[in-house]
Amino acid sequence: MINKEMLAEREKLALELAAKLPEISAAQSVGEGTCPLQWCLKLVEDARAISDGKSVMSRDGLWQLQLMIEGATRGQSGEEDLAVYKETLDAMELIGDAFTVKVAELLKANLEAYASEWDLHVRRNRCTSLVCYYDLYIDPAVCQGNGACLKAAPSGAVLGGAGMISVIKNDRELKNDAFIASCPLGAIKKCGAIKPPCPPAPVPVGSFGNAAGGAGGGRRRRRG
Ligand code: SF4
Repeated sequence: MINKEMLAEREKLALELAAKLPEISAAQSVGEGTCPLQWCLKLVEDARAISDGKSVMSRDGLWQLQLMIEGATRGQSGEEDLAVYKETLDAMELIGDAFTVKVAELLKANLEAYASEWDLHVRRNRCTSLVCYYDLYIDPAVCQGNGACLKAAPSGAVLGGAGMISVIKNDRELKNDAFIASCPLGAIKKCGAIKPPCPPAPVPVGSFGNAAGGAGGGRRRRRG
């Protein structure tokens, strides 16, 4: 049985927890290079970590929000999911306690401030910050053909040889920090919709982009 004292105690706790959350301005300006959706994901994860989980919204509501945001960062959501996300935030604002209402306000502020970035994630599976979605390429101007990336990649995913500029043939299994860090020169780079010019197959180090004016030997390729 929930009595008045218990309700008052819960509301007091909710206010204390709400005070630990960031200000609205932080949700509206997440900082250079930070993905707004990743910012929201961390907010919800942090909120779940400090929540007592005793109300429906602090337990199931926050969990649902986390799943929805994760879906948008992993290519598992569409426009209808975004609509459900907004409805969930509205419901949380309506029936939540001070803590979950503050979480909903922060997420809504982020959604409004970064509407185009949310749209880009959900509709096109693209991330301007190159955190959630990106492609990989090997910068032919940096690669020195030492072969370290070949050893770090599954067979056939990277082509190359001693003294040759390596070429990524399939980056599906390579999108991880360990592979990117496998190049001691930092030649393995992330890119978005536009991939910089790269040779289609391994060529000797120093040969790509030096002929005919050094434009890179190829046109920029629009992807996605
Ligand atoms: S990309 Fe880096 S690790 Fe791979 S061959 Fe070129 S320099 Fe070596």
